[in-house]
Amino acid sequence: MHISTVADVIELICCVALNESTRAFFNSPEPRWDQLQHFRGLLPLASYPSSPMRCYHCGLTASPAVTSSSNENGNAGRPYYKCPRTGKFLVFADARGNDPRNPPCECGLSSKRMVAGRKKSRGKLFYVCRNGTCDYNRCCTDARGGKVTIDWEILDHLVHIQII
Ligand SMILES: [Zn+2]
Ligand SMILES: [Zn+2]
Repeated sequence: MHISTVADVIELICCVALNESTRAFFNSPEPRWDQLQHFRGLLPLASYPSSPMRCYHCGLTASPAVTSSSNENGNAGRPYYKCPRTGKFLVFADARGNDPRNPPCECGLSSKRMVAGRKKSRGKLFYVCRNGTCDYNRCCTDARGGKVTIDWEILDHLVHIQII
């Protein structure tokens, strides 16, 4: 499933079924991205690590860091934790994508929804551990088991309402 319109986002990510006229309302003539704001409060987000966890690779206390302000994958200036020894990325230190309905990671907690930014898999949604304490990584799939991808053009809207 490829997500490209406001109605797609509401249906597939917010799990709300829309009839034809409601779909038309959200999708045209100008896409009503501002309407997604109303769904923001309906989706309380799960917690995120506010202090450094132990790196699950080496056992040392993770180092806090912030992504570059020029990051083009919707992650500009985003706080995260990394391995103090290798610098390997562990987890973003924020609630973005922490939908409590996401599947559980190896720690038994609801996971964190993310979007792939690398060229080959750009726009593909996937889940990771929201606490940065296991290496869980699963593709986001729709009701029929298909991989869910987003139109790269709508990235900023989804980031704004913290879906990813
Ligand atoms: Zn480490
Ligand atoms: Zn985990």
